[in-house]
Amino acid sequence: MKKLKKLVVGNWKMNPSSLAEAKKIAGDVKRGVKNTKKTQVVLCPPFVYLYPLSGVPRTSVLLGSQNVFYEEAGSYTGEVSVSQLSQCKTSFVIIGHSERRAMGETDDQINRKVRAVTHEGMTAIVCVGEKIHDQHGDYLAIVKKQIQDALRDVSKKLLDHVVVAYEPVWAIGAQDAMPAEDVHEMALFIKKVLRDMYGILADGIRIIYGGAVNTFNAQHIIDGGYVHGFLIGRESLKAKNFVEIIKIVDLS
Ligand code: PEP
Repeated sequence: MKKLKKLVVGNWKMNPSSLAEAKKIAGDVKRGVKNTKKTQVVLCPPFVYLYPLSGVPRTSVLLGSQNVFYEEAGSYTGEVSVSQLSQCKTSFVIIGHSERRAMGETDDQINRKVRAVTHEGMTAIVCVGEKIHDQHGDYLAIVKKQIQDALRDVSKKLLDHVVVAYEPVWAIGAQDAMPAEDVHEMALFIKKVLRDMYGILADGIRIIYGGAVNTFNAQHIIDGGYVHGFLIGRESLKAKNFVEIIKIVDLS
């Protein structure tokens, strides 16, 4: 595997309920990863906390948002643009999370968002993943189509601004993560899909895993899954656990 910087992303979703708590988590994470050298850490709070947390970004802890809109400006009630995000020192955007897809976000909208984000020099964390992982193997075709649709017309020169987050939907919020061997199989498959699209340049795209990662399984998944890091939901709100997972990734 090409040596790329490792990446751990915390998706806070619609949490925590106060800005004070958000500042506390971000501060604890920032202090906790002071000596982490090889791993980029990205905190993705709700939109309203981005500006108040915009003092957080340093070399190793960065800010990301959980969504974005693809138009530059105009009459789009409730939406937030890429340039507005960049004013809050946001450099990553989670796009196509399964919870947003469940709310109706389409592959076409996801593709527009990926193009808008990468075009402006931010990094798109493109979420893909099947709802069911069974012996029929349909999950491979589903994940392949999600990747191809999301990255349609994204040029080779922007690939440094793309991360693929493989998140089997059934593992998100679940008790158990996907077994490390299966994560490895999927990482290899995703790499092949990307290679077929972009050739050798695809090796510059980081592939991370998300779905029930915690302090107990992180070591096993990072060792056996051959991914570049994790996208983490619940455990990213517990600064101590999140930092522990980051350290596991950093030392692996
Ligand atoms: C997620 O929502 O992207 C996620 C991975 O959640 P959790 O870590 O809680 O399973």
